[in-house]
Parts: sequence; C-alpha cells; structure tokens
Amino acid sequence: MGDNSGCISVKRYPFREGTVFTTDPKRSSKMTTFIPKIEKLSSCVTRILGCNPGQMTLQGTNTYLVGKGDSKILIDAGEENNSEYISLLQTELKTNKWFISDIIVTHWHGDHVGGVANILQDVQEASSAKVHKFPKLQPPESYVGAAPLNFIKDKQVFSAGGVSMQAFHTPGHSEDHIILELKEDGVVFSGDNVLGEGTTVMEDLYHFMKSLQVILDLKPSLIYPGHGPVICDPIPFVENYIQHRHKRESQILNQLKENRGNMLTVEEIREKVYKDLAASLHTPAEMNINLHLGKLLKENKIDSVDDGNVKKWKVSEEMKPNL
Ligand SMILES: [Zn+2]
Repeated sequence: MGDNSGCISVKRYPFREGTVFTTDPKRSSKMTTFIPKIEKLSSCVTRILGCNPGQMTLQGTNTYLVGKGDSKILIDAGEENNSEYISLLQTELKTNKWFISDIIVTHWHGDHVGGVANILQDVQEASSAKVHKFPKLQPPESYVGAAPLNFIKDKQVFSAGGVSMQAFHTPGHSEDHIILELKEDGVVFSGDNVLGEGTTVMEDLYHFMKSLQVILDLKPSLIYPGHGPVICDPIPFVENYIQHRHKRESQILNQLKENRGNMLTVEEIREKVYKDLAASLHTPAEMNINLHLGKLLKENKIDSVDDGNVKKWKVSEEMKPNL
C-alpha cells in the first residue's frame, strides 16, 4: 500500500498556444514537441515512449508506468516485437526495482496492444502481470497473445501500486476504447480519444463526441494522451475541438436544409461546404463529412436514400425549416 498523499508533479508545463487537434483536412497541424524516450512526469507516473514513430503514431505510442510504490500498472504496451521499447521498459523496471502487476490496454489497435505478449514473455518484472481490456464486440476476444484478458467494465476502479484509477468506456475512436482517471491528482489518460497534437481518426463521431464530454465532465488537471505531449490545458483544448466539430456539422446541416427537396450526395455536400479544396483532399474531406452524416443520422436529423449505387442525403421530415 502506498501513502495517502497525491501525486506530485515533477514538471511544469508551459501553456501551449495554437494547438491544433482536428481531422478536418482544411486545418493543418504539425508536430513540434520533442518527447524523451523515458520521462518521469510526476511522483506516480513515468512515460516510456513506444519507439514506433510514424504518421499515425506521431513520435510513437506513449505508455505509462503508474503507481507510488515498487508495484506499477502499465497503461498500453506499444506495438508488437519492438525490441527497443522492451529494452527501455526492462531497464527502467530493473534500475528502480519495480515490477508490473497489471497491464491496462486502452483499445485494440496494434500500437497499444501489440507489445503485451512480448512484455509478458521477455520482461521478467512483468511476467505475472494481469492484462485488462474493455471487450471488443466483433470479433469477440478473450486473449492477447498468450495472455487471458480480464474484461474491464465501465467505471471499474483499479487499485494497485498505491493508486486508484477509474476506467470509463469512451467509444468513438474505436468501440472498445477506455480512458483512465488517476484519482490521486485528477489526471486523465486519454488513449487515442484525445492526442497531444496532430490528428486522430475515428470510427463513429456520434459516440466520439459523447466520449469527449465524458473527459470534460471529469475536469482533468492534465491529459496524458496515447500519442504526443502532455496536454496542460485540457478544458479549452477539448472544448475547442468540440466547437470546431459543431461548426462543421451546422454547415453540413444548413446545406441539406437549403437544398430541401433536392437530395445531395456526399460529393455535392463537399463541394458546398469545402469550397476550393485541392483535389488531393477530396477523399479525406468526404470521409469527414460521412462521419458527420453518420452522427446526424443517429440523431434523426437527416435521412438517406440509396439511389442506385449512390447514397443521397436530405434533412429529416421532422426537422422544422428554421431549426
Ligand atoms: Zn488507436
């Protein structure tokens, strides 16, 4: 058992200005923050970089060792067969005489779950760790590599390593996504629901927006994301993102209202909403519009009809003209 004090931050974060967090092709973003391979972020949290840099992973997946004492919870496990990451993790554990009691995976994507089997097999200090994950619906899963999965329930509390963490099911980026709130100091581990910088992809915008609200409601003091630097201004950061999505959604809905009686294809919506967009950005723009259309459909604000091979969209009959 650890002491009852909160986690003490060992780092002061400058307020970052002009951060862009968007999937919108008209807004650009660039990576600017250097992330060291190993960094102690507070008395309870050490971040170890997954050493898997790439377009989708930024400088790599952030994995976090959490706990006050020698026993640690590992959040996310990096990708499969990354010997540099395994060696970093191993050295950090050995040097500090730490061991891993639990591995919590935020979601099924390979850059978060891929390293679990390697860690259990190759890192002596983690060989008996329990592995936890929110269940995926399709296909159902019960193992990661050779490790049996312990299924996480929404709002489940983990007490280990002298800290308490609560899991919240936050689908949208993926159906099985969770975030974790470290109760000691109110920080949130956001997985891929919120990235430190750059863009995130999502399966379902309807659920994703609700999940962002779950993060806001927790009023986090900091966000430790699955990729990119620590977010030191979480509330304006997430609110800004929500507002931007609402603005884009109203533009799409307004086009459908203005063309009432004329059903529109996604290409026609794109031409009206994203004017003068370079041809190379047409596909990402249409993917973005499709996410919004899926959300509006779930909210019964629009209807769709398959006209031959083309899907067309119109505002729903129940929507009053001036709403
Ligand atoms: Zn992901």
